[in-house]
Amino acid sequence: MKLDASTPAIVTGGASGLGEATARMLAAAGAKVAILDMNEERGRAVAGEIGGLFVRTDVSDEASVDAALAAAKAAHGAARIVVNCAGIAPGKRTVTKKRDTGEFVAHDVASFARTIAINLIGTFTVTAKAAADMATLPPVTPDGGRGVIVCTASVAATDGQIGQAAYAASKAGVMGMTLPVARDLSTLGIRVMTIMPGLFETPMFASVPEDYRTALEASVPFPSRLGKPEEYAALVRAIIENDMLNGSAIRLDGAIRLAPK
Ligand code: NAD
Repeated sequence: MKLDASTPAIVTGGASGLGEATARMLAAAGAKVAILDMNEERGRAVAGEIGGLFVRTDVSDEASVDAALAAAKAAHGAARIVVNCAGIAPGKRTVTKKRDTGEFVAHDVASFARTIAINLIGTFTVTAKAAADMATLPPVTPDGGRGVIVCTASVAATDGQIGQAAYAASKAGVMGMTLPVARDLSTLGIRVMTIMPGLFETPMFASVPEDYRTALEASVPFPSRLGKPEEYAALVRAIIENDMLNGSAIRLDGAIRLAPK
């Protein structure tokens, strides 16, 4: 699908990090961008800078998603591009020079449930409801394509670390739903793809101490550094523009394989 000027697009988690870079990329390409995020201050600021719309949204709350999608649709029309970036990464970590000892967060059932509610059920809710709106649009590609939905998992889905039980489970869930949802939506001409970022330079990473960060960077085979949010956004664009990409998850991680400890 061509990323034509004025294509309506929705980015959850667009107030920060990977979602913010994606919202900026889409706006620079001329898309009409709606940012759906909990962070009202940041979300409004980013939306203001890119000439987009901000709607305060909790993706774990179905009524909030319904209201946000209705607001975005009223302003821009039903979205042809949906990028699910909203997410949390809970779990306290005690970082030592040798290893991240973490904390077994599976003991905390409320935290586990909240992580699943936002990262997995939130992604499903936005995907399912936005797809229903997208299905009402006329096709725009020679193959009958109507639009694209991109989800964000993590390498933690396969390489989960200490303290990441909830996070890894939520991201494995996102990967697990990618192929069946893509198949479900294929008769509507809607593609679904998932990106599995490795280690990216975003506010989610801000609390990592410098020495641990250096060790993490060194653990990326090539390039030995954290990914830049713009590199995530560039992959979103490549997915939008390549109609054969459908139903799979792509690692974007510099070939890192986080070793279990
Ligand atoms: P971030 O914290 O910078 O941005 C996440 C955004 O999601 C924030 O703006 C936050 O307000 C929003 N959000 C949180 N809960 C929400 C909710 N219930 N409803 C709506 N919005 C909500 O993080 P990031 O690094 O940009 O992460 C974006 C996505 O990428 C997340 O799903 C994260 O799990 C995933 N990811 C990040 C990394 C990384 O290294 N940064 C690696 C792998 C996967």
